[in-house]
Amino acid sequence: MESSPQRPRIIVVGAGIIGASIAFHLSRRPVRLTVLDRAEPGSGASSHSFAWINASAGKEPASYHDLNRRAVDMWDRFARSLAADVGLRWGGELRWATTPAEAEELRAAVAVLQRRGHHSRLLNEAECQALEPGLRLDRFVLGALSPNDAQVDPARVIRACLGQVRAQGGTVEAHTEVRGFRLAGSPPRVTAVQTDKGELACDLVVLAAGVEATRLAGLLGIHLPQQRSPGVVVRTDPQPPVLKRLAVLNAPAPDSEQPGIHICQRPDGTVIIGEGSQERLASDDSQAHADALLARAVGYLPALAAARARPLPVGYRPMPLDGYPVLGLSKAVPNVYLAVTHSGVTLAPLVGEYGAIEILDGVSVDLLAPYRVERFGQ
Ligand SMILES: Cc1cc2nc3c(=O)[nH]c(=O)nc-3n(C[C@H](O)[C@H](O)[C@H](O)COP(=O)(O)OP(=O)(O)OC[C@H]3O[C@@H](n4cnc5c(N)ncnc54)[C@H](O)[C@@H]3O)c2cc1C
Repeated sequence: MESSPQRPRIIVVGAGIIGASIAFHLSRRPVRLTVLDRAEPGSGASSHSFAWINASAGKEPASYHDLNRRAVDMWDRFARSLAADVGLRWGGELRWATTPAEAEELRAAVAVLQRRGHHSRLLNEAECQALEPGLRLDRFVLGALSPNDAQVDPARVIRACLGQVRAQGGTVEAHTEVRGFRLAGSPPRVTAVQTDKGELACDLVVLAAGVEATRLAGLLGIHLPQQRSPGVVVRTDPQPPVLKRLAVLNAPAPDSEQPGIHICQRPDGTVIIGEGSQERLASDDSQAHADALLARAVGYLPALAAARARPLPVGYRPMPLDGYPVLGLSKAVPNVYLAVTHSGVTLAPLVGEYGAIEILDGVSVDLLAPYRVERFGQ
């Protein structure tokens, strides 16, 4: 943006947690900002998220782990700058092994994190029980705590970001679908975004449209392949606090047929239950499956016995083909900034802050170098 006007006109396409964070960070600089979403802001993948903020869930290699860890460390400052209660809850993540073989794996995983300077440690049964007295530690062999993990309410984060955007003079248009782009020059640049409500001139476009970014990028001749990655979480009605200290509980698999479950509780008392790893493909959003997950959660947290489960419809994770983020200005269309990533809740503060630097200061942030779209070729 070095040669652009004093207050460039920037259009952010997509008001999930990624678009909202980028828009918020841009709005603190001299820009003319418009955020467009074809639906209600926050109604995409961000509304289906378990929203565990972490750098501990198998994030490999070390450079990707570091990226996530930086993002985790940015969350407190991000939440404070939003000046709203976004439901950020620290307290860490607890998991435990139920066989000697699992215990060895857990020991090894914790050692890797510790060598990276990440705070994670092994706990015995009494220590785990002391953390959460209401927890039934089924078949306990060895526990591990990652104390710096957290959780947040993505809907509140998005609301707060967009509120700040408006307060800084930006515009947020919900129910406005981007259908195309007007291009000019060589290499081509976007001069206007075409929506179902008309055309909007711009100096730069941020494509943060989640799973839809692939199709929109295709209209610009940019190849941004994604995997199809359905996921399901279950929500209960509001409950009194069932997790007193922890942000996230990762309970073990009951047998070789079923994966473990993860549990957290939002500030409004609703309990969120997910199954398996953060990337598990799941599309059973039936009431029967929701009831079954809740029944398993009750096995670990008996205080949930009176809760009722409500399945959320299947959500689709934005998931670039190799599983890693796509971030940065496109070389093919140099005034298009791409921002598509899994673990977008964890990464949101970093994507927003670094994205604003790359967009407005005309530099490439070194840490984002592995995540350019050009790695996929054309
Ligand atoms: C089941 C599940 C569990 C998850 N758990 C975690 C977790 O524990 N921790 C974590 O960090 N991450 C987790 N994630 C991932 C995380 O939720 C996502 O990475 C993040 O929400 C992506 O945000 P986004 O803004 O990129 O996408 P979205 O929230 O999907 O936002 C994209 C927006 O673009 C809009 N849009 C699309 N097309 C157009 C168009 N043509 N014109 C205008 N607007 C358009 C959509 O309406 C949408 O609002 C999980 C995801 C799922 C589904």
